[in-house]
Amino acid sequence: MLNKVRIGKTDLVVNPIGLGANAIGGHNLYPDIDEQTNRDLLQTAINEGLNFIDTAFTYGMGRSEEIIGEVVKEMGKRHDLIIATKGTQKFVDGEKMIDNSPEYLRETVEASLKRLQTDYIDLFYIHYPDENTPKYEAVGALKELKDAGKIRAIGVSNFSPEQLKEANQDGYVDVLQGHYNLLNRQAEQDYFPYTLEHSISFVPYFPFASGLLAGKYTKETTFNDFRSKMPHFQGEAFEHNLAKVEKLREIAAAKDTEISNLVLACYLAQDAIDCVIPGAKKPEQVIRNLSTLEVQLSKDEFELINRIFS
Ligand code: NAP
Repeated sequence: MLNKVRIGKTDLVVNPIGLGANAIGGHNLYPDIDEQTNRDLLQTAINEGLNFIDTAFTYGMGRSEEIIGEVVKEMGKRHDLIIATKGTQKFVDGEKMIDNSPEYLRETVEASLKRLQTDYIDLFYIHYPDENTPKYEAVGALKELKDAGKIRAIGVSNFSPEQLKEANQDGYVDVLQGHYNLLNRQAEQDYFPYTLEHSISFVPYFPFASGLLAGKYTKETTFNDFRSKMPHFQGEAFEHNLAKVEKLREIAAAKDTEISNLVLACYLAQDAIDCVIPGAKKPEQVIRNLSTLEVQLSKDEFELINRIFS
């Protein structure tokens, strides 16, 4: 039986190793993905005890939510799962806009409910802040949706520290999802003190820095998706990052585990983080990531890894 944890002050209980689903139906992000593999991956994940799935409208513009909705329904597993989704992007005359207005949040939650074929969303995030809506007003709209039973917990994502404080002025924010991994640790200073003090759970996105921290790329690896343009995948920066990742190989081998497990275990060892949502494109990656629960990091190992990525 896998260890379950409660996410912050919510009543959501999850396997701490979740699944980031931006490659599920995310044709706009990854040109090569195949929906049958997506379905096999989801089925494997659920059968192996993963119960926390993180999606969003923008992953395939609704396609990720649709596939998850279909597979979960086919498997009859809705009530065993914690499904998180996000919204705020909309298209007006073909132009992408961000809208946090209460009216639009109500509309986008309804649309996600339909695509997911469910009558409640466990965790709904405002995916991006807009420029105009007061953040406490946007979160206030989600609180009403929570009181109405449409969502169970309130999340915000990509909010600055100031926006987070404004959003949480009534104490309604349950989860902050933000960019954080061993190569990008700014959140430790910018967010962790506040989230810990206010019982907001921090869910890191890009836990593997889009695969770089999973330990299988070499300087010869090339990419045909958005990674081909990301700064940490370019030239010297890429090589420098790979060299750091390589330093984990010996520690992983001594523990009879993989670099990817070591990296996830390192996040879960932190008080600010209850659960992680690594992305995956193949069923075997999910199985590998789930095996992180067998990895115990000693204090010395944790500090050594932190020094490598200091
Ligand atoms: P990630 O978790 O940092 O990296 C995922 C990639 O790592 C996989 O697609 C796979 O890529 C590789 N991988 C995963 N497990 C592996 C294993 N065991 N061994 C070797 N390689 C492995 O990146 P992400 O998926 O973009 O981010 C995670 C989740 O965060 C997303 O799915 C999404 O749900 C969320 N997210 C949210 C935001 C936001 O704005 N809130 C932004 C970005 C992401 P390859 O097979 O290609 O190597």
